[in-house]
Amino acid sequence: GQGSAPTAQAVVSQYACQRRTTTENNNKIFTDAFEVLAESYEFNEIEGPCLAFRRAASVLKSLSWAVQCLEATRNVPCLGEHTKAVMEEILRYGRSFEVEKILSDERYRTLKLFTSVFGVGPKTADKWYRGGLRSFSDVLGDRGIRLNRMQQSGFLHYGDISRAVSKAEARALRNIIDEAVHAITPDAVLALTGGFRRGKEFGHDVDFIVTTPELGKEKNLLPSIIKRLTKQRILLYCDYQASTFDMSKLPSYRFEAMDHFAKCFLIMRLEGSQVEGGLHLAEGDSRGWRAVRVDLVAPPMDRYAFALLGWSGSRQFERDLRRFARLERNMLLDNHALYDKTKKEFLAATTERDIFAHLGLEYIEPWQRNA
Ligand code: ATP
Ligand code: MN
Ligand code: MN
Repeated sequence: GQGSAPTAQAVVSQYACQRRTTTENNNKIFTDAFEVLAESYEFNEIEGPCLAFRRAASVLKSLSWAVQCLEATRNVPCLGEHTKAVMEEILRYGRSFEVEKILSDERYRTLKLFTSVFGVGPKTADKWYRGGLRSFSDVLGDRGIRLNRMQQSGFLHYGDISRAVSKAEARALRNIIDEAVHAITPDAVLALTGGFRRGKEFGHDVDFIVTTPELGKEKNLLPSIIKRLTKQRILLYCDYQASTFDMSKLPSYRFEAMDHFAKCFLIMRLEGSQVEGGLHLAEGDSRGWRAVRVDLVAPPMDRYAFALLGWSGSRQFERDLRRFARLERNMLLDNHALYDKTKKEFLAATTERDIFAHLGLEYIEPWQRNA
């Protein structure tokens, strides 16, 4: 339930990894506004304010109460001048004029539209915008531009993959992947990760980790799964990236870097008959199937805990785990390993709990990581 601002307020940590954030957001009117502002700064490549608004949104999501006046946020960190001015506007008028201006801005709207296509990032979207393109028909028309394979699939399945994936659909996909993985390797390990592991009702995709207890055997796993799904004719798109992971190159950390494990970004065909309660389709859509985005990552078993922690998200939770490790513990954390810079050694972990313990953090359950 929604609490009220405690009178003797507990101090809230500036790090998401020291807060418990469920999917229940009591401050959506503020966090929605902050996310628009953050994205607008991101489109303009202004990193500082972008991060500041993301942090502010994240800290408000962790509160068990709705902010009703600015004085109540005295013990809430990560709220700067600009952030507070936006909150003040929302508290007073029910909306922010700065946010409304962004929402009606042509460049913001166009970049938002273009980046909603699978395979189109902010750089490409901006290039298209500068080339005078404003709509999908501008992009796809006869005077349109060359698209790569990923973008072609993105447009082809646009309606389906821009529609949220339900928990029931995620479960159905889990069954399909589970069947495939175990037909290939009976002792394989499959784990649901990403937003659904955090207890979200809907997601933009479904994320899985697959591996084998026997080290090295995981190398053939993704190619075998892909082959099998292709034979079953349920792979609509597949981008496979082989592993470039090399323990001897660690620690070689770039903040926010992608990991080096084998992975594939898929679009899968999901039959309605396989989903309990049916597909999550638009009103009046009576097709028997839909397309769904699926990510699979296959780390070696000895990296499993780090990969699971790294892929469970949220993105802000991950950012703050790394920032906390670096600034508070002089350690480097990424999806592969945890390195203690003082002791000059790697810290081993077989579970997520081990990693939290090494960092001297209280364990945060996956469903409390919706920062
Ligand atoms: P949604 O419901 O929108 O899918 P999500 O939290 O599952 O929410 P994802 O984009 O699927 O969001 O990402 C899940 C996690 O995987 C995040 O923590 C992210 O940091 C990580 N991740 C995503 N893509 C990569 C990648 N290419 N390399 C490494 N980590 C990644
Ligand atoms: Mn996801
Ligand atoms: Mn994903």
